[in-house]
Amino acid sequence: MRDTADRLLPTDFPPIHRAALHTLQVNLGYVCNQQCQHCHVNAGPHRTEQMSRTTLDDVLAFIRRANIRTLDLTGGAPELHPQFRELVQAATQQGVQVQDRCNLTVLTLPDQTDLAAFLAAHQVQVIASLPCYLEQNVDQQRGKGVFNDSLTGLRQLNQQGYAQPDSGLQLDLVYNPQGAQLPPPQAALEADYRAQLASYDVQFNHLLTLTNMPIQRFGSVLAAHGEFDNYLTLLKKAYQAENLPAVMCRHLLSVDWQGYVYDCDFNQMMNMPLRNQTQRLHLRDLNPADLHQRPIAVAEHCYGCTAGQGSSCGGALSAS
Ligand code: SF4
Ligand code: SF4
Repeated sequence: MRDTADRLLPTDFPPIHRAALHTLQVNLGYVCNQQCQHCHVNAGPHRTEQMSRTTLDDVLAFIRRANIRTLDLTGGAPELHPQFRELVQAATQQGVQVQDRCNLTVLTLPDQTDLAAFLAAHQVQVIASLPCYLEQNVDQQRGKGVFNDSLTGLRQLNQQGYAQPDSGLQLDLVYNPQGAQLPPPQAALEADYRAQLASYDVQFNHLLTLTNMPIQRFGSVLAAHGEFDNYLTLLKKAYQAENLPAVMCRHLLSVDWQGYVYDCDFNQMMNMPLRNQTQRLHLRDLNPADLHQRPIAVAEHCYGCTAGQGSSCGGALSAS
């Protein structure tokens, strides 16, 4: 894989600073039941990296001392971490809203038949990858049979009350473009998804469109095809200043499976420490007060967050 990190620095991306921290996004490790070709962390069944119990305790301690409101769990498949349910229970007891970045097929594993009920019982917000509503496209990107297993997982969630009127159980789907384009308008694509998935008797709340970042495997593919500079130009030309105050790193802190912190998941993938740190900082050594108004470590990939309708872990930043 070609390393494109050195092509993203220096940058003319405007300086940004942290605001109030309310979300901790935690990567529990790289174990996954799937092995998608585009996976940015190369997750799969044979990976062994998983957050230790000591680091899980560091996470819970930080949640308390930073008064975190939302815990956003990623992986791999976060549900396959042996202490996933323990962590969800402990965070929920502390009054924290938990989000689960779910690949949907994990719900169909023989030892996860009670997962949907567990998530519902703890009011976990599910954010699920479904890169298309067409079987062929999903199976091509994520593996044979993944589309049908994903529908099975979605129906299990619907049966538990997810995306049903007045249940309060939120189920959002995530879309990102297959190639070097910006995502289409979120609202229009959401309407298409809703109509198509209704024909499979599947409901969801919102579709979140994400912009592909020119880093890791996608950046490497762009570079191999000679498209890297063109894609960066596309992102920069589509810069919308009104998205800048809403970029997710202003309110979020990203934690890797070993407990090191970054301004966002993309910076984590690039191994970019917090600004003004020569080395990565561990969560246990971080004083939340030191984050206040701290400058954020930016590079050229940040234009992916501000292009067009904007992009974040919560989807588009603006309606246009
Ligand atoms: S489901 Fe997600 S984490 Fe798992 S291999 Fe695919 S992209 Fe990676
Ligand atoms: S890439 Fe990360 S640091 Fe850059 S603007 Fe987006 S969220 Fe912030």
